[in-house]
Amino acid sequence: MTSKKPLLPPPRTFLNRLRWMVLCVVFSMLVLLPVVGVYQNYAAAHAYDFLAPSEKLLYDIVEPATAWFTNDPATDLDAIKGTTWSANFFGYKISDPLAVAGQIAAGKELYWPFLFTALIPIIVSLLIGRIFCGWICPATLIYELNDKLRSWMARYQLPVGELKLNLRLKYWVLLVGVILSFITGSVLVAAFYPPAIVGRELYYVIAFSGFGVGAVFFLLTLLGDLFVAKRSFCRYLCPGGALYSLLGRYRLVRIKRNVETCNDCKKCNQVCQFGLDPLRDDFGQECNNYSTCIAVCPSDALQFTLNTHDTPYQRPGHRGRQYRQHKSSTEKKRQAA
Ligand code: SF4
Ligand code: SF4
Repeated sequence: MTSKKPLLPPPRTFLNRLRWMVLCVVFSMLVLLPVVGVYQNYAAAHAYDFLAPSEKLLYDIVEPATAWFTNDPATDLDAIKGTTWSANFFGYKISDPLAVAGQIAAGKELYWPFLFTALIPIIVSLLIGRIFCGWICPATLIYELNDKLRSWMARYQLPVGELKLNLRLKYWVLLVGVILSFITGSVLVAAFYPPAIVGRELYYVIAFSGFGVGAVFFLLTLLGDLFVAKRSFCRYLCPGGALYSLLGRYRLVRIKRNVETCNDCKKCNQVCQFGLDPLRDDFGQECNNYSTCIAVCPSDALQFTLNTHDTPYQRPGHRGRQYRQHKSSTEKKRQAA
């Protein structure tokens, strides 16, 4: 199925700004929900007089903020709960497909109601691909800020890692994680899945004023992104990224290069944190449609289109030097003949 019409009119930079807004909102929710949860516990226990000064401060901030929409915080504040791993929105439960895959492996049975909670993310991934990674994942916000630090380090000629590994590595990580979950009966895959770790660790910090071992793991992934390879964990090791990539292999919404307006400036390739090759029309199942290449393209040559496959390589952009040289030499040969 193909469509030549772009899905969005220029200017397309707004998509990238929108994406940053969504990432910030998701991250803020992951901070706010545990804060509200802690307040809810205090309110349910009617324990204000017994709280420590810092706990009273939290209570005094959250109580007036929630009072305008509820008189019964112990019950009403359950409406939105959880993290990006598994959450409850006004009675609808939604889970990360990796949580469901891990749970099925660990429990050794298909529990349909739980599978149903991953239905929306699965359908969205089938249609739009690895979009969770670029638009929702709370770890992405931190990884992208870390990538800015990496660019800054590179500019000042500080050492940064440039290792190139096989992108298929993460599919093995996914497979091993699922097998380990099956053997141990515990959803082990969550132990090395950054969005699950970020949600968990934020909860620990806010509710218990401490970190778990996941914080150390996450810190190591940040160091890996600086000193091993750009976005190394997402590119090569993330089990969730692997699952979303598989789901998005034949996604309907994908980016296409308009060869007639492309000028071969290579900005799209330079900005792609996943090391893909938009300039050669190579997006593949790894592309998370996060639109940064669209935002930097000076000639609006990259567009979202409806297509279940990437376009085969279309040769150099018609506004680039290589194509112009090729064209003029062909014309000269024709005139000479
Ligand atoms: S090709 Fe573009 S949208 Fe896809 S991952 Fe790279 S920069 Fe993001
Ligand atoms: S014009 Fe756009 S599509 Fe072509 S190389 Fe530059 S950024 Fe990439």
